[in-house]
Formats: sequence, C-alpha cells, structure tokens
Amino acid sequence: MSVLVLGGAGYIGSHAVYQLIDQGEQVVVVDSLETGHIGAVHPNSTFYEGDIRDLDFLRKVFKKESIDAVIHFAANSLVGESMENPLKYFDNNVYGTQVLLKAMVEHDVKHIVFSSTAATYGEPEAVPITEEMPTIPTNAYGETKLTMEKLMKWTEQAHNINYASLRYFNVAGARESGETGEDHRPETHLVPIILQTALGQRPHITIFGEDYDTEDGTCIRDYVHVEDLISAHLLALDYLKAGGKSDVFNLGSNQGFSVKEMIDTARTVTGKEIPAVGGPRRAGDPSVLIASSKKAKHVLGWQPSRTSITKIMQDAWDWHVSHPHGYSEGVEHR
Ligand code: UDP
Repeated sequence: MSVLVLGGAGYIGSHAVYQLIDQGEQVVVVDSLETGHIGAVHPNSTFYEGDIRDLDFLRKVFKKESIDAVIHFAANSLVGESMENPLKYFDNNVYGTQVLLKAMVEHDVKHIVFSSTAATYGEPEAVPITEEMPTIPTNAYGETKLTMEKLMKWTEQAHNINYASLRYFNVAGARESGETGEDHRPETHLVPIILQTALGQRPHITIFGEDYDTEDGTCIRDYVHVEDLISAHLLALDYLKAGGKSDVFNLGSNQGFSVKEMIDTARTVTGKEIPAVGGPRRAGDPSVLIASSKKAKHVLGWQPSRTSITKIMQDAWDWHVSHPHGYSEGVEHR
C-alpha cells in the first residue's frame, strides 16, 4: 500500500516524502508544479503531474495505485495574494479538497492528514493558542483552510473517513542531509528573506512594523523546524491508521521570537551583517502568535527535537548556501 502525498513537490510536502521514504513507505506524489519544483520530487517516489481539481486525473491515480492514506499539502498559501484574489484560493484550496474527498470516497480511502494553519485562529484572544480557542480568520487564506477542515468534518460523518488537521505555526529550516529546502517564487517568508539578504541577493530586509506591543516592537512568532513538523504528520498517520478519532492539532514550539531576534540569530549563524530597515506594518499581521502544542505531544506522542532557532537557522542557511538559486539556476523568477 502507498501513501499519496498531494503537493509533494512543495517545501513542506517534499520534506514529508523524504521522511516517509526514509521509513520504508511507498509514496505516490501528485503536484501541479504551479508552486512546487520538479527538483524537489524524491527520485524514489511515483510522480504524477496534475491538478487536484481534475477529478478524472485523481480517479486515474487512485485506480492505478493502491493508496491507503493521503497527506494533503496541495494548496495556495500566501496571505497577501489571498486578499487580492480570494476566489483563486477558494477554487484551488476548497474546491480542490472537495474533489479530493470525492475521489477518496469513491476509492474507499479512509485516512487523511491535512496541512492547516494558525491563520484559522485570526487574532488570538490569548497566547499560547490552544485548539479550543475561537477560529475567526482575518484573511481569506485562513478562511479557506478552516473551510477545508469543515469539509473533512462533514465528509467524515457521512463516509467514515478519519482525519488529522495539523495547524502549523511558522515553519522554517530544511532537511539536515540537504536534499530539499525552501524555495518559494516569490519569496515572502521571513527566514528565507533574511538568508537571501545574507547571501547578498537582497540589499536589506524590511522589518514590517517596529511599533507592536512587544518588547522590541516587532512581531513575535513561533518557529518550528520543518523536520519536526513532518514527524508529527507521520505520527498522525499512525494514529489514524490505528483508529484514532478525527481531531485538530497545533504544531509549534510553545515559544516565540521577534523579527529582530530572528535577524540577530541569522547574523550569528551566518557571520554576515544582514542590513535591516524598518518599514510599515504588513496588513493582517497579528502581533504575537505562539502555539500550545500540548495536545499533539499528549495524543500523538510528538517530541520535537530541533527546537532552537539557531538549529532552524543553521539548517536553512546550509540549504541556501548549497542552493543559492533554489531548485534552478538564475534568479529571474524571484
Ligand atoms: N516579516 C518581516 N519582513 C519580511 C517578511 C516577514 O518583517 O520581509 C515578518 C512578518 O511581518 C511576520 C514575521 O516576519 O511578523 C513572519 O512572517 P512570515 O511571512 O514568515 O510568516 P507568517 O507569520 O506571515 O506566517
């Protein structure tokens, strides 16, 4: 039996494929390559290029391969873009998941691990954020992920599919052995932007707001190493296969670091100056997001082991140094 990884050519999905194959699993990858990279596809996986909204395409994959579980990473994930083009997000993310669930029901596939987000909570009423807190997204991206969770909830009740929805906080770092890392076009995330600045590919990093109600005035986020994040997916898969009940889990590190602390860490790790300039706030940015991951630890037995931001930054830096232009030569697409 195989695990189907949707979005397995993307940053987080490709790390999942590598860890699954490390564990001896057979892996089938589906990716449209709209944001994923062919170079990120594991050479020992079975790869299908296609769009999850294409039901006939998904039917062919499910018919040809013997799939017993799905890990679903195939979605658009840029907050800003989701505000400018919400219908794209509802189409790719929500409708795409609807088609996927239909194909799963038709082919009697019973387990799905789902890539969700802290953006489902919106501006939190308190930190650390627990899974019971209200979900009031402040952007279209978070709304689509919450809607996708609801699609799974109602499908489960009718068709007995169990799901684990994993709400990510800030994912960073790269695979320690270097085969895969982070390469978004355009890049919007803090850690790769800092490291591209360290490489001299950007003149400076702009800090989005220095007047937040935090100690140094910059936003605080909870950074989790991508390898630890993926360990939680593998545990969630085992949990579902053992008959675990459908549930939602936060994945973070229970601690927060400011934008300035992240830049300082990168200066230490890289030995580079990394010029930084203050800029206006970015719309929709909550000041502090920190997860309580107690539930994932307790129920799934998750034990993140790469919890220091120095380790996260070092692994991300190693990837950037060995792949200064990501998965391809040239920087024209950045
Ligand atoms: N950020 C920044 N400059 C950048 C990119 C990000 O100051 O060029 C800040 C952003 O405002 C947020 C934090 O870094 O407070 C993390 O942003 P990212 O986009 O990486 O993740 P998000 O928290 O939006 O999921």
